[in-house]
Amino acid sequence: MGTPRDTRTDQAAEVVDRLEAEYPDSTISLRYENRLELLIAVILSAQCTDERVNSETEHLFSKYDTPEAYANAPQEELAEDLNSITYYNNKAKYIRNACQTIVEEHDGAVPDTMDELTELSGVGRKTANVVLQHGHDVVEGIVVDTHVKRLSRRLGLTEENRPDAIEADLMELVPDGYWQQFTHLCIDHGRAVCSARNPECSACVLADICPSEKGDSEVDLASGDPW
Ligand code: SF4
Repeated sequence: MGTPRDTRTDQAAEVVDRLEAEYPDSTISLRYENRLELLIAVILSAQCTDERVNSETEHLFSKYDTPEAYANAPQEELAEDLNSITYYNNKAKYIRNACQTIVEEHDGAVPDTMDELTELSGVGRKTANVVLQHGHDVVEGIVVDTHVKRLSRRLGLTEENRPDAIEADLMELVPDGYWQQFTHLCIDHGRAVCSARNPECSACVLADICPSEKGDSEVDLASGDPW
């Protein structure tokens, strides 16, 4: 078991420092060329890999290039165009409804506030944070996905379970200016080393400060279960 820094604030700063050195080019892995494409890609990425989304959006973005095009697309046709994505029927509905709102209430532009974004169909706080950060350069919160949740709990930064509560904890701890990057660093480290089922603690740059480290710790703080 590693020994965390004395305070959670120091622990968060140390985690950011070390992961930044490890993943200097860490960034979003979804492909998009404008705010609408970003919004669509993030809606599609819920419980689906970015790789799968990128392969599907390649043809999707050449077929539909305005909010009107999505809003006016027949449900069955749009769903069929998304059929390699998890929950494609529901996601097609969300996208058509969200684009209808964008056309009717926002003059065809993807909104730039948390309130307006989260009023769109299929858009929760996580999706809105990604769109604000990468589409509008507005950093209002911290995106908490499955990797951020797992790593934050394993590293002793939070004991919360709900993404909103985890985000609130992290906003108290993660240094200003790193809120956006923190997510990408956790995602890269989660994919490369700290996987859900079999983290490679012996190869981890955070091992000596991680209270879940498998060498000595008996418990995975992400789940609260024994390793
Ligand atoms: S890989 Fe192991 S040591 Fe590293 S952060 Fe994950 S649980 Fe902790």
